[in-house]
Amino acid sequence: MPEDCVFCKIVAGEIPATSVYADQHSYAFADTNPQAPTHVLVVPRKHLQDLPDLAGDPAAGAGLLAGIRGVAEQLRLSDFRTVFNTGAGVGQSVFHVHAHVLAGRPMTWPPG
Ligand code: AMP
Ligand code: ZN
Repeated sequence: MPEDCVFCKIVAGEIPATSVYADQHSYAFADTNPQAPTHVLVVPRKHLQDLPDLAGDPAAGAGLLAGIRGVAEQLRLSDFRTVFNTGAGVGQSVFHVHAHVLAGRPMTWPPG
Protein backbone atom coordinates (compact mmCIF):
# COMPACT_ATOMS: atom_id res chain seq x y z
CA MET A 1 0.00 0.00 0.00
CA PRO A 2 1.24 3.53 -0.66
CA GLU A 3 2.47 4.85 2.67
CA ASP A 4 0.64 8.14 2.37
CA CYS A 5 -2.78 6.78 1.36
CA VAL A 6 -5.38 7.85 3.92
CA PHE A 7 -7.94 5.29 2.78
CA CYS A 8 -5.45 2.42 2.96
CA LYS A 9 -4.79 3.57 6.53
CA ILE A 10 -8.53 3.57 7.30
CA VAL A 11 -8.90 0.05 5.83
CA ALA A 12 -5.93 -1.07 7.96
CA GLY A 13 -7.45 0.49 11.09
CA GLU A 14 -4.56 2.93 11.46
CA ILE A 15 -6.84 5.98 11.13
CA PRO A 16 -10.24 5.95 12.86
CA ALA A 17 -13.43 6.05 10.81
CA THR A 18 -17.11 5.53 11.47
CA SER A 19 -17.73 2.14 9.89
CA VAL A 20 -20.98 1.59 8.02
CA TYR A 21 -20.37 -1.70 6.18
CA ALA A 22 -17.52 -4.13 5.63
CA ASP A 23 -16.96 -7.32 3.68
CA GLN A 24 -14.16 -9.27 2.03
CA HIS A 25 -13.60 -6.80 -0.79
CA SER A 26 -14.85 -3.44 0.44
CA TYR A 27 -15.08 -1.14 3.41
CA ALA A 28 -17.53 1.72 3.90
CA PHE A 29 -17.32 4.60 6.34
CA ALA A 30 -18.83 8.03 6.97
CA ASP A 31 -17.35 10.99 5.09
CA THR A 32 -15.89 13.50 7.55
CA ASN A 33 -17.14 16.42 5.44
CA PRO A 34 -20.69 15.27 4.65
CA GLN A 35 -22.50 16.82 1.70
CA ALA A 36 -25.86 15.24 2.59
CA PRO A 37 -27.50 13.80 5.74
CA THR A 38 -26.13 10.43 4.62
CA HIS A 39 -22.68 10.60 3.02
CA VAL A 40 -20.74 7.33 3.00
CA LEU A 41 -17.55 6.41 1.15
CA VAL A 42 -17.14 2.87 -0.16
CA VAL A 43 -13.60 1.77 -0.99
CA PRO A 44 -11.98 -1.45 -2.17
CA ARG A 45 -9.68 -2.92 0.45
CA LYS A 46 -7.06 -3.14 -2.29
CA HIS A 47 -5.34 0.10 -3.26
CA LEU A 48 -6.53 1.10 -6.73
CA GLN A 49 -6.17 4.70 -7.84
CA ASP A 50 -9.34 5.52 -9.69
CA LEU A 51 -12.27 4.14 -11.70
CA PRO A 52 -10.25 3.06 -14.76
CA ASP A 53 -7.82 1.31 -12.40
CA LEU A 54 -10.78 -0.40 -10.66
CA ALA A 55 -12.18 -1.51 -14.02
CA GLY A 56 -8.93 -3.40 -14.60
CA ASP A 57 -9.61 -5.58 -11.55
CA PRO A 58 -12.99 -7.28 -12.07
CA ALA A 59 -13.07 -8.91 -8.63
CA ALA A 60 -12.46 -5.60 -6.91
CA GLY A 61 -14.95 -3.86 -9.19
CA ALA A 62 -17.71 -6.34 -8.50
CA GLY A 63 -16.76 -6.23 -4.84
CA LEU A 64 -17.16 -2.46 -4.71
CA LEU A 65 -20.60 -2.65 -6.33
CA ALA A 66 -21.58 -5.24 -3.74
CA GLY A 67 -20.28 -2.86 -1.07
CA ILE A 68 -22.53 -0.08 -2.37
CA ARG A 69 -25.48 -2.46 -2.23
CA GLY A 70 -24.42 -3.44 1.29
CA VAL A 71 -24.45 0.20 2.41
CA ALA A 72 -27.91 0.73 0.89
CA GLU A 73 -29.24 -2.36 2.66
CA GLN A 74 -27.54 -1.53 5.95
CA LEU A 75 -28.93 2.02 5.99
CA ARG A 76 -32.23 1.03 4.32
CA LEU A 77 -31.70 3.51 1.51
CA SER A 78 -34.19 3.29 -1.34
CA ASP A 79 -33.04 6.47 -3.09
CA PHE A 80 -29.40 7.43 -3.17
CA ARG A 81 -26.84 9.02 -5.46
CA THR A 82 -23.50 7.35 -6.19
CA VAL A 83 -20.57 9.46 -7.41
CA PHE A 84 -17.06 8.54 -8.52
CA ASN A 85 -14.83 11.56 -9.05
CA THR A 86 -12.08 10.64 -11.49
CA GLY A 87 -9.22 13.13 -11.70
CA ALA A 88 -8.32 16.28 -9.83
CA GLY A 89 -10.08 18.39 -12.47
CA VAL A 90 -13.49 17.15 -11.28
CA GLY A 91 -12.65 17.08 -7.60
CA GLN A 92 -10.89 13.80 -6.86
CA SER A 93 -8.74 14.57 -3.85
CA VAL A 94 -7.97 11.08 -2.53
CA PHE A 95 -6.38 8.77 -5.09
CA HIS A 96 -7.71 5.51 -3.68
CA VAL A 97 -10.88 4.89 -5.68
CA HIS A 98 -14.07 5.48 -3.70
CA ALA A 99 -17.79 5.70 -4.32
CA HIS A 100 -19.63 8.51 -2.60
CA VAL A 101 -23.09 7.34 -1.48
CA LEU A 102 -25.30 10.35 -0.79
CA ALA A 103 -28.87 10.39 0.47
CA GLY A 104 -31.35 12.14 2.71
CA ARG A 105 -32.04 15.37 0.86
CA PRO A 106 -33.45 16.42 -2.51
CA MET A 107 -30.83 16.41 -5.27
CA THR A 108 -30.77 18.30 -8.52
CA TRP A 109 -29.69 17.16 -11.96
CA PRO A 110 -27.33 17.86 -13.64
CA PRO A 111 -24.90 17.81 -10.71
CA GLY A 112 -22.67 20.84 -10.20
P1 AMP B 1 -12.95 13.05 -3.50
O1 AMP B 1 -12.83 14.55 -3.41
O2 AMP B 1 -13.97 12.56 -4.47
O3 AMP B 1 -11.58 12.41 -3.72
O4 AMP B 1 -13.50 12.55 -2.10
C1 AMP B 1 -12.66 12.41 -0.98
C2 AMP B 1 -13.57 12.44 0.21
O5 AMP B 1 -12.87 11.90 1.30
C3 AMP B 1 -14.02 13.85 0.63
O6 AMP B 1 -15.44 13.92 0.59
C4 AMP B 1 -13.46 13.99 2.05
O7 AMP B 1 -14.35 14.68 2.90
C5 AMP B 1 -13.29 12.54 2.46
N1 AMP B 1 -12.28 12.28 3.46
C6 AMP B 1 -10.99 12.68 3.45
N2 AMP B 1 -10.34 12.20 4.52
C7 AMP B 1 -11.24 11.44 5.20
C8 AMP B 1 -11.18 10.67 6.41
N3 AMP B 1 -10.05 10.56 7.11
N4 AMP B 1 -12.31 10.04 6.82
C9 AMP B 1 -13.45 10.14 6.12
N5 AMP B 1 -13.57 10.84 4.98
C10 AMP B 1 -12.48 11.49 4.53
ZN1 ZN C 1 -4.97 3.33 -0.77
